Amino acid sequence: MDWSSFPREKTDCILCGSSSSHLLSVQKTWPVVRCSECGLVYLSERPAEKALTDMYSRAYYEDGDVGYRGYLRTYEKYHDTFMKIFSRRHRDLLHHARGRRLLEIGCAYGFLLDYLGRRGWDVQGVEISPLSSEYARINWGLMCIQGMLNQLTSRNTPTM
Ligand SMILES: [Zn+2]
Repeated sequence: MDWSSFPREKTDCILCGSSSSHLLSVQKTWPVVRCSECGLVYLSERPAEKALTDMYSRAYYEDGDVGYRGYLRTYEKYHDTFMKIFSRRHRDLLHHARGRRLLEIGCAYGFLLDYLGRRGWDVQGVEISPLSSEYARINWGLMCIQGMLNQLTSRNTPTM
């Protein structure tokens, strides 16, 4: 995909709000900078919100030139591999987490959340794609909110 024409917006440091930074590298046209104030490494330009919503349409998972083309088929074909990866993630979470509640930001079809939910975790997801968030709700019965993290309100924000 040619990212050079992708709609974008400049952003200040999301941690401290500083607009002072220095360029570290450019990754596929996206400038990676280090904040001069707090040291956070971030993209000084990020995809415009509307463009992101459009990108995560059905095409992202089905036939786009970016994203997870054939994601469901890949999941089924490599199910054992996914299970090994999820098992490792589960071990990592058990080692680092203080509780058994998890909010996955960008949970896609909810495969990991389903895996963890079956192992006693209280799981919830946020997913920008209407297609995949609906899949997660319908197929796994997950609490999966369609939207972006910054769109959560006190009414629909999971309690963690
Ligand atoms: Zn900063």
